[in-house]
Amino acid sequence: MSRADFTRQSTERSLQELKDSDYKQYKVDTSGDSRVCDACKAQDGKVYNIKDAVIGVNAPPFCDECRCIIMPVFGDFETEDSPVITDFQIKIT
Ligand SMILES: [Zn+2]
Repeated sequence: MSRADFTRQSTERSLQELKDSDYKQYKVDTSGDSRVCDACKAQDGKVYNIKDAVIGVNAPPFCDECRCIIMPVFGDFETEDSPVITDFQIKIT
């Protein structure tokens, strides 16, 4: 099994786990060393909606030697259960 196949499987598993845990977004994280290729570097730190994830496009692997992973994004998004309270909303309450 190639490195890209391994990365693809772990991405699929991670996406499913994040979905099951009600996360909405993920962030791409490269291994961060000098062997990271340009295709992967371009994706480093990018945040995407889990429902929009397309492996090979906005989810790893991005190259044949890809070792990138995806991480859950915490609290940067609004949900219906816990709307973000802005200063404006606090003032008019
Ligand atoms: Zn990569």
